[in-house]
Amino acid sequence: MKNYRKNHVQPVLQSYDNAAFIASSQKATWPYHDFQWIPEAFPESIHHLDWGYGTWQLYRTWAIVKVMGKLPLHLFSAGELVDTIELCPLCSSPHANIQHILNSCMGTLDLYRKWWQSSCDSSLPAPSREWESLRMQLFADRVSPMCDDQDKGEARILYVGSCVRRVSAAVRRSTLSSDISTLISQAAASSSTL
Ligand SMILES: [Zn+2]
Repeated sequence: MKNYRKNHVQPVLQSYDNAAFIASSQKATWPYHDFQWIPEAFPESIHHLDWGYGTWQLYRTWAIVKVMGKLPLHLFSAGELVDTIELCPLCSSPHANIQHILNSCMGTLDLYRKWWQSSCDSSLPAPSREWESLRMQLFADRVSPMCDDQDKGEARILYVGSCVRRVSAAVRRSTLSSDISTLISQAAASSSTL
């Protein structure tokens, strides 16, 4: 019975899962299928990583961006899971999406250079960012940072997570300052009517 389940039932269920995974990942506008073409069990090894809360938070951020291609501002109490921010809080570019934040925002260039030096070739200056290849470097391959090279796996998590964290902090600051401006103008308006 055990052998029948292993040799006949499980392969059928696995191929059913694979087909469903491929169908849904190919439909999406974010090319998840290019990063990972079959489902992967969550690696048990990840439970043994000696990370603090901050790094786990960045890993969570990286994982959500990898799956959805969106900006998980909610992880840093700066809003919701969004496709774009109307105005980039770091450089004022309009319609800032994940491509802008990781690939062209001047407000994250230092993080990109840091990632390049720790992960790619520290003897060369970081090249200008090219989205198709950068996206594959940041998201392709396994769910686990323990891919082929743990340092490289961790470096890309830190880059993506740190960019989203920085944007979120700037969103929080701009929301706070606009709230304060609104309060000041409301106070001015009410005192002028006295
Ligand atoms: Zn920007």
